[in-house]
Amino acid sequence: MRNKLVLKPRMAKPFWHGEPWVFDGSMTRQKGYQPKDGEFLDLRDDTGRKVGSGFFNSKSVIRLRLLAFGDDDREPREIIAERIAEAIELRRDRIGFDRQVTNAFRLVHAEGDGIPGLIVDQFGDWLVLQIDCLGLVRHESWLAETLAQATGVRGIYRRVSKMARDEEGSPLEEGLVWGEEPPQEVEILENGLKYLVDFRHGQKTGFYTDQRANRLTLAGFCQGGRFLDAFSYSGAFAFNALRHGGAVHATAIDSSARAIEAVERHGELNALTAIEAVQGNVLRVLDHYAKEGQKFDVVSLDPPKLVPKKASLRKGLRLYREINEKGMRVLEKGGILATCSCSGAVSDQEFEGVVRDAAANNSRRLQLLSRGSQGADHPERVPHRASNYLKFRVYRVL
Ligand code: SAH
Repeated sequence: MRNKLVLKPRMAKPFWHGEPWVFDGSMTRQKGYQPKDGEFLDLRDDTGRKVGSGFFNSKSVIRLRLLAFGDDDREPREIIAERIAEAIELRRDRIGFDRQVTNAFRLVHAEGDGIPGLIVDQFGDWLVLQIDCLGLVRHESWLAETLAQATGVRGIYRRVSKMARDEEGSPLEEGLVWGEEPPQEVEILENGLKYLVDFRHGQKTGFYTDQRANRLTLAGFCQGGRFLDAFSYSGAFAFNALRHGGAVHATAIDSSARAIEAVERHGELNALTAIEAVQGNVLRVLDHYAKEGQKFDVVSLDPPKLVPKKASLRKGLRLYREINEKGMRVLEKGGILATCSCSGAVSDQEFEGVVRDAAANNSRRLQLLSRGSQGADHPERVPHRASNYLKFRVYRVL
């Protein structure tokens, strides 16, 4: 028999529907026994019915992360093995990536694929693993073995997120988990373009695979245009605009010296030379362009997560508005603005509201041309809205 936690009256409904995150406030206080961090526990409702089972962590605001629902009594590894198989099937047979065009994608999207906190990105013959749920740490070797067997990769490298360290209390260090030590840089393919990914120093797991479809969507609005890729990281929006969209020139801006150097090298690697990479703060660089009267036909804004949690919502929304205002100021009349938010704590309505306000402050009119989100290799698990975080909008600004 597993230890159990008990929900307060009338709190069980979302979990019957499959919501995996249980916050402290919805559970009754434990009497007598204190569950261990990382322990796999049962959750019951106030009448004693089993609602599910999951990993406990007293340090995290998400006190329990459910893996099993209803009366599923299987051990964690049996359930996880099944979910990994389902995740691989989605990418291999349903999405069906053509490896000659795209060999970099998310293989396991945590709660979105029904495995709490487990992120696995595939980059050609390599996997990058990130465990954001303390209870999975003790299963890591088994997870790596299972993933390696299922994919036939050469090696698996571990990244540790700030969230895992600060909020889950993960004891892990970054490094090799399984197989061969990967090279300093791994060449990957996305939408037929080549990039170099550095597992050790790159942001997140090394490359943003969630924008793949949006990069192609935006390329569709770039014919003959001058493109600005603000918050460029690897420059992937710009390279798609040049290669697939017929943009005549691209400017990439990022504050990271590593990112700017990577953009330059990606230009050479893909024989796309009509690109200029600028290191700097986007807000300052855009002010400078506005002052000089420098304009672009297409502007892409893809800032980092500005609202990490609800508490910073107001401040973050103000920053989104400022970025969008500055972006609009360097657009030609009738130009295209692509704008993103990767903050899960910002709703679609809030984000569109910010862009609307930015246009009003600039006396511009907007037409919304396209709405996007993360790609299908980052599935949203219904009803867990938090597994969908990315907002992508394309506007014409008049
Ligand atoms: N558009 C990228 C992903 C961007 S991630 C892609 O498609 O892959 C956000 C990027 O913004 C990071 O590379 C980070 O270095 C950069 N960044 C953060 N704050 C910045 C600022 N104030 N000015 C310029 N770049 C910034």
